[in-house]
Parts: sequence; structure tokens; C-alpha cells
Amino acid sequence: MPLYLGECKECPNCKSGKSNLCHKYHLTLSGLMLDDTSRMSIYGGQVLYQIFTCATWSEYTVVNANYVIKVDPQKILLQHASLLCCGFTTGYGATWREVHVEKGSTVAVLGLGAVGLGAIEGARSQGASKIIGVDINESKRGKGEVFGMTDFINPKESKTSVSEMIKDVTQGLGVDYVFECTGIPSMLNEAIEASKLGIGTIVLIGAGHGLTREFNLVPLLCGRTLKGSTYGGIRLHSDLPALLHRCANKEIQLDELITHQVSLTEINQSFELLKDPHCVKIIIKF
Ligand SMILES: [Zn+2]
Repeated sequence: MPLYLGECKECPNCKSGKSNLCHKYHLTLSGLMLDDTSRMSIYGGQVLYQIFTCATWSEYTVVNANYVIKVDPQKILLQHASLLCCGFTTGYGATWREVHVEKGSTVAVLGLGAVGLGAIEGARSQGASKIIGVDINESKRGKGEVFGMTDFINPKESKTSVSEMIKDVTQGLGVDYVFECTGIPSMLNEAIEASKLGIGTIVLIGAGHGLTREFNLVPLLCGRTLKGSTYGGIRLHSDLPALLHRCANKEIQLDELITHQVSLTEINQSFELLKDPHCVKIIIKF
């Protein structure tokens, strides 16, 4: 599995055991490898760039060996492995490694894509007593329940704010942990408001568009903690094998994350369709 964070076990962050952001095998945003070169090109010599440290939109690529982990395709299907390179692992790790959700905690997860569903599974594994999933897509209700969600909120069903709806099902207190997985700017304040006064923790996972956010200062001054997360705090060597082991033992229903399966030919056709101004309508058919 190609990953976008390595783990050297020697740098200050790796030695601290507190972070998965290795100084040596770090996240790169340049599109180049650590030596500032690209090993990929198309006919004619035009350079191709990677996304982060691991371009995967190709059948073959060159990836730094410190950013891969070996999996047995007999134990973990490749379509499942693809969900573990980021998405599901990121949410799962956020509850386990980025913060440590204590047994009996109350949790809210905003956005139930692969990341959010991973956070639900992680919260359940950690022993959370109440796990509230929030999504405007009604079909996520069933998905969330598979992974351990106890309550579902569809913001479209009420004019009340998301934070108020979460407080309504927690005796007005809010929750111990909020995992913000949507990246929607306005959801940051909702996440903060939905957490408990004085002790609530908000973990920001979703990136979304834009590099700045505005938030209300007072709720944070009232003792709440806002924490950012990359890949859920999961370390390639120290943490990921344990999750892979759970998946190999079929303890986690990764099939539930797969909505469609397409062939390579269909993927290439979809790239062609992207040239069509109405591509969004067409792509949804997949
Ligand atoms: Zn390191």
C-alpha cells in the first residue's frame, strides 16, 4: 500500500511517540519525490507529478520504499487496501491515535464518508457509549449503524443548527469528542459548539476548499480543545499493522464502504467524460 507519510523512528517526532508527522519521511506537497525529482513522464518527456508522495492513478509508478507497507492480497483484498491508504484509516486513527476516545465517551462525527465511517468504527472500538453520525445523505444512516453509530442526524430534516441537534440528544451538554470530516467551513463552528463546555475536543480532519477558516473565539476560550489531524495520527510501522490485522481477521466490514466497482476501461472512459461540460451528471452514473 502506498502511503503519504513515512516513519523513520529516529527523528524528534517519531521518538516522541506523540505524532505521525515524521520529519524525515514527511508529507510532500510539491508533487515530487524527496530528492525533488519525478520518476514519471509521458511520451515526449513531459514530467508528471505525484499527489503527495504516492501517485496511484497509474498501473505502475515509482514510490519511495519508506512510504509503502506490504500487505498480503490473500488476506486483504486490494479494493479494501485502497480504502486503508487514507479514508477509513484516517477516521479510525483519529479516535485511537490522534486523540484517545475513552470508554463511555460521547462522540459526534460530521460527514459519513469513508473517513467519518472510520471514525465511527474507531469510536466503537474505543468503547464510546454514544456515537452520533451527521450527514445530509439519508443512505448514510444504515451505513453508520453497521459501524456502530447509535444516533443519526440529517440536518436537512430540521432548521435547527447541527450543534443544537447534537445537544438535543445529549441532554443539552454536547459531546466529549467531535470529528469534523466534511471540510465545510461553516461546520467548524458547529463542531466547536457541539462539544462539551470546558472539556470537549474537536478533531479537524476534513480539508475542503480554501486554506483559512474563521471560528468563534469564546467557545474555544471556554476550555475546548481544537486539534488537527493528518492520516488520523496513524504511524506507518507502529500503528497501521494492528489495523491491517483487524481487517485481515474480517473484524471490520470494509465491503460496506464500496458503493460501485468499475473496470480500468470504465475509469479511462470516465476521464474522457471529464472533458464534457456535463461530466458531473455522467460520472454520477458510476
Ligand atoms: Zn521520523
